[in-house]
Amino acid sequence: MSASLIQASRRNVGAPRIGLPDEINSWQSRLSAFAALCEKRAGEADEQSIVHPSVVEAFHALGVAAAPLPTGFGGIGLIETSEWSALFDTLRTFGAADLSVGRLFEGHANAIDLVHRYGTDAQFKKLANAIQGGALTGVWGADGANPLQVRQVAKGWLLEGGKILASGAGLITRPLVTAGSEAGQRLILLDLKPGERTDLSGWTPLGMRSSATGSVDLSGLLVSDSRLIGRPGDFMRQPHFSGGAWRFCAVHLGGAEHLVELYREQLRQRQRDNDPYQLQRIATCVSAAGSAAYWIKAAARQLALRSEEAEKSVALSNLARGVTERSALDVMEAVQRGAGLSAFMRANPIERVARDLSTYLRQPVPDLAMAEAARFALADAGSIKDMWDLDEG
Ligand SMILES: Cc1cc2nc3c(=O)[nH]c(=O)nc-3n(C[C@H](O)[C@H](O)[C@H](O)COP(=O)(O)OP(=O)(O)OC[C@H]3O[C@@H](n4cnc5c(N)ncnc54)[C@H](O)[C@@H]3O)c2cc1C
Repeated sequence: MSASLIQASRRNVGAPRIGLPDEINSWQSRLSAFAALCEKRAGEADEQSIVHPSVVEAFHALGVAAAPLPTGFGGIGLIETSEWSALFDTLRTFGAADLSVGRLFEGHANAIDLVHRYGTDAQFKKLANAIQGGALTGVWGADGANPLQVRQVAKGWLLEGGKILASGAGLITRPLVTAGSEAGQRLILLDLKPGERTDLSGWTPLGMRSSATGSVDLSGLLVSDSRLIGRPGDFMRQPHFSGGAWRFCAVHLGGAEHLVELYREQLRQRQRDNDPYQLQRIATCVSAAGSAAYWIKAAARQLALRSEEAEKSVALSNLARGVTERSALDVMEAVQRGAGLSAFMRANPIERVARDLSTYLRQPVPDLAMAEAARFALADAGSIKDMWDLDEG
């Protein structure tokens, strides 16, 4: 943990407001306490397709919701570039605990980062206050058959259409949505009531059932100027748009590592841990997860510390996506073959985590991401060995 993060923890910024014991007041211990709770509730949340109420409560009570905010706004600064490593650890930890919670936290941190980057001071302060007051945020960018549009009218800005695949729908009251406009794509920070305009009935996936991913009909909503964040086109501005993909990769990594841990534990319990084929599978899993960790960290570090090298930052994150996906698919195959039928039986957590991971691995345009990274490598005049700083820091 960096010096500033340690100081923030010592100052007890974003500390619990419901009188929890002193020993869980440092960030690391609050993070662990939250992760342990998520892991404990994950099976029940999946069964019921809900974000578990105790997790929602702890999200605020343990200061997790406020953690991405800069220290001056009551957080511990996880979105600050100097804290990229702490954010990486946090996303990985939540991914291991429950991939659905990891998804929600990733969106929450991303929205905070976008408003911090492109919004005015007043807009950011308002969001920070709302978060301190118990609100959650997230980025809802996906459009369906009726894509969200916004147009200026006499009394402000009128929305027409809606969003699909919106995680935390019904729970998130300050979503950051993308909307088409005459001037280009806009970002709008909404103020919704819990459950408002939400439809979760279409979310019938294999995994990630407890991510409350739904559709939201925003037609007829009128918003003021102060809700529009940044300039047209900011959302997809590079390198942060594609470069930020490292964050969901870190969550995926946590899920894959959790699977390896469950597999290792079950091999030991069944006294199958000396079998040469199982040993080979363990080696495959450990090296696959380790490789992904290397690439994701390199992409996170590059974006945080050298974002002026925009094309390189994007290419590295795109490659990290490919490595993470391949690694997770290899881990899932090895774990499912190695644990056998038990990996497909409820309530073995391997069954749920593999379902969640295989669903959450589906991210936009993976082929395009790899093709763009390949074009960067082809256009680069230098040697391949000097292309990335994978082992730095
Ligand atoms: C659990 C979960 C939660 C989510 N939450 C959110 C959220 O809160 N906010 C949000 O905005 N989104 C969210 N999403 C949606 C996510 O960001 C992606 O939009 C979605 O996962 C894309 O998946 P896809 O496989 O359909 O992607 P696609 O991009 O459609 O890819 C599917 C396949 O088609 C290929 N392909 C893509 N385009 C073309 C083309 N033009 N021609 C040929 N082939 C093509 C791809 O390379 C890939 O092989 C969530 C998704 C999941 C799984």
